Amino acid sequence: MPAHSASNTSRFEPVAFPPAEPPTPIPNEVIAVSRVERVEAIPVSYPEPNDFNALRHLCLVKITTDDGVVGWGEAITQFPEASFATKAIVDGMAERVVGRDPLENIAIWHALRDQKWWYGYNGGIASYAVAAIDIALWDIKGKLLGTSVCNLLGGPVHERLPAVASCHAHHEDIGRMVEEAQEWVAPGLHGVKVGFGKRGNARLGYEHDRDVAYMRRIREGLGPEKLIMIDCGWAIKWDVKTAVRRVQAFEEYGLHWIEEPLGEWDPEGYRNLRSKTTSLIAYGEKEWDLAGYERVLATGTVDVVGVDPARAEGITGFKKVADRVEASRRQVNAHAWSSAICSAASLAVSFSTPAAKLVEVKPLANPMQHELVAEPIDHVDGWMYPPTRPGLGIDVIEEVVDRHRSEVILENRRS
Ligand SMILES: [Mg+2]
Repeated sequence: MPAHSASNTSRFEPVAFPPAEPPTPIPNEVIAVSRVERVEAIPVSYPEPNDFNALRHLCLVKITTDDGVVGWGEAITQFPEASFATKAIVDGMAERVVGRDPLENIAIWHALRDQKWWYGYNGGIASYAVAAIDIALWDIKGKLLGTSVCNLLGGPVHERLPAVASCHAHHEDIGRMVEEAQEWVAPGLHGVKVGFGKRGNARLGYEHDRDVAYMRRIREGLGPEKLIMIDCGWAIKWDVKTAVRRVQAFEEYGLHWIEEPLGEWDPEGYRNLRSKTTSLIAYGEKEWDLAGYERVLATGTVDVVGVDPARAEGITGFKKVADRVEASRRQVNAHAWSSAICSAASLAVSFSTPAAKLVEVKPLANPMQHELVAEPIDHVDGWMYPPTRPGLGIDVIEEVVDRHRSEVILENRRS
């Protein structure tokens, strides 16, 4: 052995550690574990003033723990049959939720997906059920830990986000439609997203010259600063050439984005449109899960990716999509056009991701936003701020839920 080694060895005497003491056992009673006691699916129906008071349908989910904490979730089911089908699946899935610790919410989300592939591979009603349960569990988790869902997702990356009005035009006369949009932005909102191809007499989306006149006049009416977005509903059946001609004409008046001009899936058409125009192209809101969004992102033809947490597997699903959108250097946009529960879930994710750039709000007060919760979610002078209260930060008023139960509303309409 070399000399220096021998001398080094002699310098370090073994340290005599005191004998290890057995750890003090932690009494079971100080580890308070909440367990899910009850999962209730509640279909509700309500008139939507932002859409000519058309009756809309949602499936809410109320989850209660054994220590009395309540969380709320929502599926944006839109039709009564979809609401009742979602309720049936939630009732069945409850077996995988009752008895679980709500802090294990993402593990529960995986367990639900392990079941739903039998009847929900690539999405559908099963994704609604997962979404509503997931949102309610995040709400409970935040309440149990005394912090906002946004903080549970890592905290806000935006100090504030601009809010824009998202609505359907309610008039036939273009001048009246412009005045209506001016009324929407008057409280300070940063722009408007207007639905084309909606019910009523607006007839937007069907005649080139009239549509361009509308775009010109609404730009003149709102001024140069406001964002203008156009959202093509299912009734708009533009072919690629029509879409290119329309969007090129709208661009003269600063169209910020065009949404679903070629529907939910037309990669070749969108590639063509994108090569000839500069407005952002928005689509994706009909996708059910991350796999669907991966397919959309892989086309390279989307700039603004629409996601509804009440459809696309909840806050957990939305967050996974938002991370992928961020990595793709695209914009993610919450499709929050239903209840305050969905809006709260959307805000939590939107504030947690740099990929979100704005928040849509409905300009006209409606029961599921402004009556359902004690303090409605709203902008302040056109800005949304990060939610700070525990969970989703909303207090759902059960009397309002009960008043809008679908079985009551639909029965009243029949009689
Ligand atoms: Mg849309």
